[in-house]
Amino acid sequence: MKIVIVGSGTGVPLSDRGSPCLLLMASGEYTLFDLGPGSLRQLLRIGIAHQRIDRVFFTHFHPDHTADLVHLLFATRNPRVLEARKPFLLSGARGLSEFLKKLQKAYGKWLRLPDRLVEVDELEIAKPDRRDFKGFSVFSQPLRHTSNSLAYRVEQDSGASIVYSGDTGYSEELIEFAKYADLLILECSFPEQYKVDSHLTPALAGRIAAKAKAKKLLLVHLYPEVLGSDIPGQCRLSYDGELLIGRDLLQLEVG
Ligand SMILES: [Zn+2]
Ligand SMILES: [Zn+2]
Repeated sequence: MKIVIVGSGTGVPLSDRGSPCLLLMASGEYTLFDLGPGSLRQLLRIGIAHQRIDRVFFTHFHPDHTADLVHLLFATRNPRVLEARKPFLLSGARGLSEFLKKLQKAYGKWLRLPDRLVEVDELEIAKPDRRDFKGFSVFSQPLRHTSNSLAYRVEQDSGASIVYSGDTGYSEELIEFAKYADLLILECSFPEQYKVDSHLTPALAGRIAAKAKAKKLLLVHLYPEVLGSDIPGQCRLSYDGELLIGRDLLQLEVG
């Protein structure tokens, strides 16, 4: 399977970093994790039109992870798109349906699509959950960034695994969930001097990756503050595996 970092940034507009979005290409299907503002346009830069997206998993409902859901629904209403569109899945923590309804209330008919086209699937928020697809499974783990935040683990039937934290502070549950991942994608928001409980620093990301014994660590959700700091130096205090600092459109083969 292949993963593409569609956006390695945050909600802060940067010319060289889009908002959170990952693309998983597996079994000939396109699965997205998060859909931050500008993601659909970013996807076009690697030749993926929004009509080809099979499903989207949301880690949580903050605007930097969901704003292009509005764009996706609206763009799908184009009559020529609508005619040819195959059904797609929107998945996230319990509360996703309500979130969608509120967006539709705000925008009216401009976000409404035929029922046959969109399936909304809510995952547990009090315990881990799982969904199976052709050739791979997606596991979810509730985290405490918000009351409905999830981390995801993709496991190919062959055994290869990718874990994506979404937004999170330091978390023992995340360490367990990420055990022995071939690729661990962690948020890395702020340097030590701006540390907050609900996000990771490079040092904390390194500690999580080391404790999880992840084979490879990839850092995303990079705020300008952390980009101006010594990310590898801090991360290396505890993690000595392969380390990558995310950049937009970086592609990695896993498994
Ligand atoms: Zn967030
Ligand atoms: Zn975020």
